[in-house]
Amino acid sequence: MRTDDLITRERRMTALSALAIVAAITSFAVAACTTVSAQGDPAPSTADQPSTTGRASGPPGSDDGVLPEKTSAFDTDLPGIAKLDPALLKAVQQAETAMKKDGITMQVTTGWRSKKYQQELLDKAIRKYGSRKKALEFVSTPEESHHVTGNAVDIGPTDADDWIIRKGARFGLCQTLSNEMWHFELVTTPGGECPPMS
Ligand SMILES: [Zn+2]
Repeated sequence: MRTDDLITRERRMTALSALAIVAAITSFAVAACTTVSAQGDPAPSTADQPSTTGRASGPPGSDDGVLPEKTSAFDTDLPGIAKLDPALLKAVQQAETAMKKDGITMQVTTGWRSKKYQQELLDKAIRKYGSRKKALEFVSTPEESHHVTGNAVDIGPTDADDWIIRKGARFGLCQTLSNEMWHFELVTTPGGECPPMS
């Protein structure tokens, strides 16, 4: 990774030098610098994971499962909702309807995620925490994430999380990660008991 970083830096330096020359001999310096910063942002993740990023470039979008604010479990036109396991989706929809009667409006902050989206989150966490080992305490790999298989949802805001923690088991929904009060999975039968969290 360090080697890749160095290569990336060298490439940037080369690009910057080239642009400096361009800037000196043309009047497009401002436009050229804008181009450099736009290309520079995603470079660390592509340098870290050249094989997994593939042809897709740029940040993850709706097709990767990114959801707009205030997404409902009934927004099945969005891939992040449509690609959830059908039984989980039905349970979340039931919970949304039931908590609305209690005066709480929930939103799905994340449902299904593509491998690319999950990898992007992991890459961000590695940059934030400084090591892959530490980052993996907070973010799963694309191979292990239950979001990637469509078997997990993240719900907000906090009062909606609290509602599902108290009443979600009637639909089979349980909090499964002790350090994520917003993360729910279909891991019990409706009306059953939630298993211990990991
Ligand atoms: Zn989650």
